Amino acid sequence: MKKHNFCAGPCTLPQSVFEQAAEAVKNYNNNGLSILEISHRSDAFVAVMEEARALALELADLQNKKYEALFLHGGASTQFLMTAYNFLDKKAAYLDTGVWSSKAIKEAELFGEIVQVASSKDKNYNYVPKNYSIPNADYFHCTSNNTIYGTQLKDFPQTGIPVFCDMSSDIFSKKIDYNQFDLIYAGAQKNIGTAGTALVLIKKELLKKINKQVPSMLSYQTHINRKSMFNTPPVYAVYVALLNLKWLKKQGGITAIESKNRKKAALIYKEIDRNPLFYGFAEKEDRSMMNATFFLKDKNLSDRFDHLWQKAGINGLKGHRTIGGYRASMYNALPIESVELLVEKMQELEKNI
Ligand SMILES: *Cc1c(COP(=O)(O)O)cnc(C)c1O
Repeated sequence: MKKHNFCAGPCTLPQSVFEQAAEAVKNYNNNGLSILEISHRSDAFVAVMEEARALALELADLQNKKYEALFLHGGASTQFLMTAYNFLDKKAAYLDTGVWSSKAIKEAELFGEIVQVASSKDKNYNYVPKNYSIPNADYFHCTSNNTIYGTQLKDFPQTGIPVFCDMSSDIFSKKIDYNQFDLIYAGAQKNIGTAGTALVLIKKELLKKINKQVPSMLSYQTHINRKSMFNTPPVYAVYVALLNLKWLKKQGGITAIESKNRKKAALIYKEIDRNPLFYGFAEKEDRSMMNATFFLKDKNLSDRFDHLWQKAGINGLKGHRTIGGYRASMYNALPIESVELLVEKMQELEKNI
């Protein structure tokens, strides 16, 4: 039986994507070769890269020719330093909403002065700071979804300076105006595909601001000039991303997936609030549609609850080690049936104590 996988990343992908990806390893497009053994300069792979880049822009509604899509090595964590290396001259403004933002800040500090406009560290990041002011700076950086704590930015500040966003754990999960950002990046292993690449959506105009020498591999200009093929790209990760983005489009695109994601999130949060055995971690108004974090009020029940969900074929429900408790990650590919089953197990625990 296939498990119900609530893993936070890498995470579940559509079954059809797993099957097509597996087939491509054996025999890509029925041409007698594996996707893993063809040249990245071959027509077959160049077509994969071009389609994946175009589809990423299409799904983000950024086909206005102002943006480029890149699939780069090194995950989101390399983007923490690459953004700063390219664009931080004197001072940048960062919003601190958790471990990932803090890591982005730590890397950027190597390149210039960092102004933390606000932080929710005082409450172990269970909320999103609001009403902060943003100084004039080279750019403002934020994290749209805080994977570990289950908080999410519902809107983004108007700044007058370039806005950069780490969207690793909620890109393509709901309709937002991607045009309000100058640079977006996301590790692929949540809503895009498999680990091994990060998607970058970058406004071309921004490149005019780069006025220093950047090593080739860390330069956005290099990768744009070479259509994301400066060196051997992470070919398999890009291929899986293409399969998954095509799946998303076939589902009806972002509008359709958003309505499913809303239903899943509403189901789990309703149960967290209703069930007297549980409570939620994140402030209600800042709750994430992707990662729901919750605790048992009585820790003595955890063995019983863990046994219940594990026996039911649920995987990956344990919270991140820094906050404990439980975390249900409900990325695009997680079926609503998995959430229904989890709710059923929470109710079963309540009935049987
Ligand atoms: C998972 C995650 C990352 C880290 O991504 P890597 O690709 O492993 O570097 C960064 N930011 C957020 C918000 C994440 O959820």
